[in-house]
Amino acid sequence: MSRAYVGFGGNLSDPAVTLRAAAAELGREAGPIAAASPVYRSLPVGVTDQPPFLNAVAALDTALGPDELLDVLLAVEAAHGRVREVRWGPRTLDLDLLWFEGVLRADPRLTLPHPRAHEREFVLRPLCDLAPDLPLHGRPAREWLAALEPQGVEPAGLSLM
Ligand code: ADP
Ligand code: MG
Repeated sequence: MSRAYVGFGGNLSDPAVTLRAAAAELGREAGPIAAASPVYRSLPVGVTDQPPFLNAVAALDTALGPDELLDVLLAVEAAHGRVREVRWGPRTLDLDLLWFEGVLRADPRLTLPHPRAHEREFVLRPLCDLAPDLPLHGRPAREWLAALEPQGVEPAGLSLM
């Protein structure tokens, strides 16, 4: 089994329901889920004229390899009606593979760790609830979080599971 961390996000059609359904599917198809963060509400980054996002992170213990796990993430996104239109635009579900045990790579189909995880409060806050010492680009996740300007991320009072 390998440990992986998966980031969840969504801002259309009841994202709390979607994120929970996606976590359950991920647990069945790639799991088990070892731990799940609280859910956060986040102001949109990039394209700002859209509803707030809900975001969370899950720790997964998986028998899959990183490419197979990404295939599962993309299939779960597609099952929730994700259509790729605007980059950073509204979406029902975004699943990002943030970190996979022992794997570093720069392939555009799958870059590990995720190339933008260390810049985003909506990833780092839930990730640090689970794994503050996780190494991202040479520094622990909690150091990246401490160095960020606030980006409008608040606890939503919900849990992922
Ligand atoms: P974003 O999450 O940055 O808004 P998308 O969800 O539209 O962008 O993802 C675009 C592509 O990024 C996916 O088709 C996938 O192949 C690629 N990708 C590269 N690295 C990763 C990763 N670590 N996790 C998820 N997708 C990745
Ligand atoms: Mg994505």
